[in-house]
Amino acid sequence: MTTPPKALNAESRRFPDHDLCFLVFACVMIFFCAAPQGESEHCMTARILDGLKIRDQIFAELSDEVRLLTAAGVRPGLAAVLVGENPASQLYVKSKIAACEQLGIASALLTPPATVSTLDLLAVVEDLNRANDIDGILVQLPLPPQVDTKRILEAVDPAKDVDGFHPVNLGRLVSGRPGLVACTPAGCMEILSRNEINIEGANAVVLGRSDIVGKPMALLLMHANATVTICHSKTRGLPDILRHADILVAAIGKAGYVEPDWIKPGAAVIDVGTNRVTDAKEGERLFHNFPDRLEKFRAKGSALVGDVHPGAIDIAGALTPVPGGVGPMTITMLMSNTVKAARLRRASPKFSATQSSVTA
Ligand code: NAP
Repeated sequence: MTTPPKALNAESRRFPDHDLCFLVFACVMIFFCAAPQGESEHCMTARILDGLKIRDQIFAELSDEVRLLTAAGVRPGLAAVLVGENPASQLYVKSKIAACEQLGIASALLTPPATVSTLDLLAVVEDLNRANDIDGILVQLPLPPQVDTKRILEAVDPAKDVDGFHPVNLGRLVSGRPGLVACTPAGCMEILSRNEINIEGANAVVLGRSDIVGKPMALLLMHANATVTICHSKTRGLPDILRHADILVAAIGKAGYVEPDWIKPGAAVIDVGTNRVTDAKEGERLFHNFPDRLEKFRAKGSALVGDVHPGAIDIAGALTPVPGGVGPMTITMLMSNTVKAARLRRASPKFSATQSSVTA
């Protein structure tokens, strides 16, 4: 037995060494669990499903494929149609074109004025449908009110519909046939599979039933053999349904709506929501256990939050952060769809031997 340090009092000297060690360990644990914590210091934090890391993996795979396709005379090309001067749309299109440049994909930007008519925009889409070097057509939404958005989206050649919004591609998804799948749900599936989260036989709940996220997400999970429940604004007893979810995908557009105690301990949570919070009370509700984030929110006056309350990090087994989770995957899958469209439409069948898994 080692000599106890002089600072120890008579009480502590009665403990044998291993009991003392245990006592010190217990005190440290109690301190860390009881004190207000920053996000990275919680006792039982969920595994972070890092979308940026997966984006980098997929970009590396796509770069290789673009190089091979280009060498074979098929350089993938994406055309973006940006109507008017909506600053948010301009920003989105800019980052999509930057991603093309990073990967060696050719890009074209068409900028009809905000006054464009449905017929004129249909003519733009028809020209792009005919252009052989354009593999993907992206019509940035929203379109101005005088334009019939549905008619425009349905005019895009399904083989070039890299957003996966065309009814033909939706129909293919319903029947489990290969096609171009909407980017955000396809990105969520990449997050699940690349993190080896078991989908087969899992209870999956999709919160939200939009055409671009909730519905395709539910179909993808069903085709991966999950047992899928879809919830929406009229669903009764939502918390209890969510508590049975091994996999929860939240896509409703309501900041921190899903409370931590609605989540099954250990569940995989995919938070699609992207909500900017500016209200001080709302900030307190969301970040009261996250002093670092609360401080940043107060300093900046706003924060980006998902549809799931940040406190879920203490309950879930795995969780996508907001930002940095699903967000980066949407552009990633747009690039992936463009490369896939080029390969399917223009490359010879033998090229499929070299394709990466992501564009399969
Ligand atoms: P959306 O078209 O507005 O659909 C919202 C869905 O949520 C609807 O089905 C609605 O139900 C349901 N809902 C709304 N309030 C609800 C509530 N209190 N309880 C249960 N269900 C509720 O939205 P979206 O386009 O799917 O987008 C959803 C969120 O994902 C938004 O925050 C959006 O910004 C984000 N998003 C992110 C990305 C990304 O790249 N990270 C991409 C796309 C979307 P009803 O059908 O009954 O009305």
